Amino acid sequence: MAMDFNHGSAWVYGQEATVADKINARIDEAMVARNKKQKPRAYLGGSRVGEPCARRLVYEYLHAPMDEGKDFDGRILRVFDAGHKFEDLSVAWLRLTGFDLRTNKKDGSQFGFSAANGKLAGHIDGVIVAGPDVGIIWPALWEHKALNTKSWNDLVKHGLQVSKPVYFGQVQLYMAYMELSVALFTALNKDTEELYHEIVPFDPAEAQALSDKAVSVIRAAECGELLPRIAAASDFYLCRMCPYAERCWKEAA
Ligand code: SF4
Repeated sequence: MAMDFNHGSAWVYGQEATVADKINARIDEAMVARNKKQKPRAYLGGSRVGEPCARRLVYEYLHAPMDEGKDFDGRILRVFDAGHKFEDLSVAWLRLTGFDLRTNKKDGSQFGFSAANGKLAGHIDGVIVAGPDVGIIWPALWEHKALNTKSWNDLVKHGLQVSKPVYFGQVQLYMAYMELSVALFTALNKDTEELYHEIVPFDPAEAQALSDKAVSVIRAAECGELLPRIAAASDFYLCRMCPYAERCWKEAA
């Protein structure tokens, strides 16, 4: 007798989307709740100082609420989590190759710095203290990002300073405060697992400008002032991507 192996499929397929939606909604909810429980940082993060709009940094430093629907959702929080896992992989691969990459202190905490009475701080991905001869004099700051193909290709084509100015600012500021004269920036393509590495020499003038910018952001925030907008109109490309755009363009200039 011929058996009908498809009799349950319609039911299963019919339910699939609903089950996925239900599970994903729960995951998103749990992740957002976990994120809300995190203590907001009481300092300006060194990783953010390269952000082109100083006014946005004031909002970030003050923990101003983001515009409706612009806060981190479950998907973006998963991207952050995945970024940490990709970083662990790159660490393992570099160590396997003979790079003495230190990522944590003996107590397990990250290496980092604190300046301006603790109002500016940063935690570094690691320091390479020794390794194969690849044209770097150790020690070197090590910073890592996991990028999608489009972003990774742009970085490979244009280099860190042009393609990723915020990350470039991050490594410059970190080198300044960690007293390191060179950085190795590693980017992993999340879609293909290709790796890109760039040597970034310390640029004292750039680091000084970033440090001055951090001080002006902190001062403005503490005086209850906003810094000038980066653009004259809200349709500027950075403003269109900014989670404070509504708030920003409503506030007095
Ligand atoms: S909306 Fe534009 S000017 Fe305002 S904080 Fe954001 S990026 Fe800066």
